[in-house]
Formats: sequence, structure tokens, C-alpha cells
Amino acid sequence: MLDFRIILDEIYKDAIHTKDKGVVASYIPELAHIDRNSFGIHLRTSEGNEYSVGDFNKPFSIQSISKVLALAKAISFKGNDVWQRVGVEPSGNPFNHLSLLELENGIPRNPLINSGAIVIADILISHLDNPKEDFLNFVRDLTGDNSVNYNKQVAKSEKATGYKNIAAANLLKSFGNLENSVDDVLDFYFHQCSIEMSCSQLSKAFYLFVNKGKCLFEKVYLTESQAKRINAIMLTCGFYDEAGEFAFEVGLPGKSGVGGGIAALLPNKFVITTWSPGLNKNGNSQLGMQALEQFTSKTKLSIF
Ligand code: GLN
Repeated sequence: MLDFRIILDEIYKDAIHTKDKGVVASYIPELAHIDRNSFGIHLRTSEGNEYSVGDFNKPFSIQSISKVLALAKAISFKGNDVWQRVGVEPSGNPFNHLSLLELENGIPRNPLINSGAIVIADILISHLDNPKEDFLNFVRDLTGDNSVNYNKQVAKSEKATGYKNIAAANLLKSFGNLENSVDDVLDFYFHQCSIEMSCSQLSKAFYLFVNKGKCLFEKVYLTESQAKRINAIMLTCGFYDEAGEFAFEVGLPGKSGVGGGIAALLPNKFVITTWSPGLNKNGNSQLGMQALEQFTSKTKLSIF
């Protein structure tokens, strides 16, 4: 019988004693102040058990992890139409890479790189009555927690410095792949990325993908097939040019963000979330990846 408590404790001890903790993202100035020594893990199983260590209750900037939630929301009302405007292939490139987008005529490789997420943001704006409010309510409903919120300072900070995203949105617009104005879409996208959640809140929200599209509170948002496909995209595209490495080392669908969070899951079994703000050279949490590699190696629980 696996003792998750002991396993998480071992991983935690190893992580806090690791010298190379990576580098905190500073291209979004507001994120640069985060303490590099923060570290938390939260595990939620399908039997309803929870295990946690460290700073698992401290909210952090979920950044690109929000792309999966935005995709889920877009798919819940657009279904397969989404795939006419964004692909499902890994990009093999950094999250903010631009040249492929031009080569491929404004159709982003997948919805988890920035350009793809900007197209998803455009779809949400076109379909939601009050886009920012409605999206936040969706995330709150998944989490069962109304304290989840945007961090307006972080959104503003990214708006002031997000030149690559501004370039991506303009390219998309020039190819006719944005319905709304570049400013409106980016305003939504920067807010979406600025949502703050703790590991334990993220575990609740991502339970949707463990549970075949039905959230922790039993509401059905996605069909089984839609949930399966989102998990497949997380596995192949969730870590940008390190998606292969994450599948190789960890073997779970998952998504990282430059705030240092990772949400990963084994369908029907568990969701595990980590937070450690230091990033490796590919923009993924250094200790988060290490912790998840240790977790699936020690427990032998992965999709492979
Ligand atoms: N908001 C960030 C950006 O667009 C998200 C990137 C990330 O978390 N990888 O650059």
C-alpha cells in the first residue's frame, strides 16, 4: 500500500535542499519579487483523499496554467469548431515563439502556446456576455471557492511589457484569426493569466480532467471525449519545447506556468499540483518537474 504522506515528505525534503532552484521569471516585472524558496505540493485522489506539503495553500500567479481552463470553457460551447482556428500539434518551440505562426498563416500550432491561447481568448470574448467576470466565475465554480481572483497588478504589469504577445495578437489579426480588437483580446488574456490560485485550489479545478469532464461538485462541463482530448493536448503540448522531456521524465498530462506552478494528472486516479517559482531555461518550474518525476517514479503511477 502506497503511503502518499511519506512520499510527499521525501520529495519535499529533497526539493528544499536542492541548490539549483532555477530562476524566477522577471519579464513580467510583477512576478520578479516572488520568493524563490516557496515550494508546495498538493495531491487529490479520486477517492477524495488529499495530501499536501509546504506552501500548498499560498496563492500564486497561475499564468499559462489558465490556458487549459480557457480551452475547457471554449470547448464547452464551441465543441470541435475550435479546431478550425487552432491546431493540436506540439510546437517544439518556446511558448512565445512567433515565426511558425507566420509560416503557418496565422493558425497557431496548439491552444497551449501563447498565440493559440490568444485565439481561445478571442473565442471566449465573442461568446461570453461579460468575458472577464464570466471566466472568473467559471474558475470559481470549478474550484468551489469565490476567493479566487485576478491580480490586477500582474495583468497591468504584463500589459505594459508584453511585446511578444502584442506582436502575436497583431499577426493573428492580420491573418483574420481574431474577431475582436487586439486590445480587447490581450486585456482578457493578460487577466486570465493573472489569476491567482494555491496548489490546493488548482487541484480542485483540474479535477475536471481527472473526472472525464465532470467537476468536483458533480457538474458536467465537458463530454468524456472532450476531456480525453484536452488531456492529450496537455501531454503533447503542456510544456512547450520541453513537452517530450516531461512525458519522458514524468509521464502525465500536465500544464506549467511561468509563475512556477504545474498541474498534472492521471485520468480517473489523481491530480497533483506543485509550486516552486524558479524556472529552468524552458520556462518550466525546475523543482516542480523534479518533484513530479520523483512522484511518478516512487509511486509507479503514470499513464505509461
Ligand atoms: N502570461 C504569460 C505570457 O503570455 C504566460 C506564459 C507562461 O506561463 N508560460 O508570456
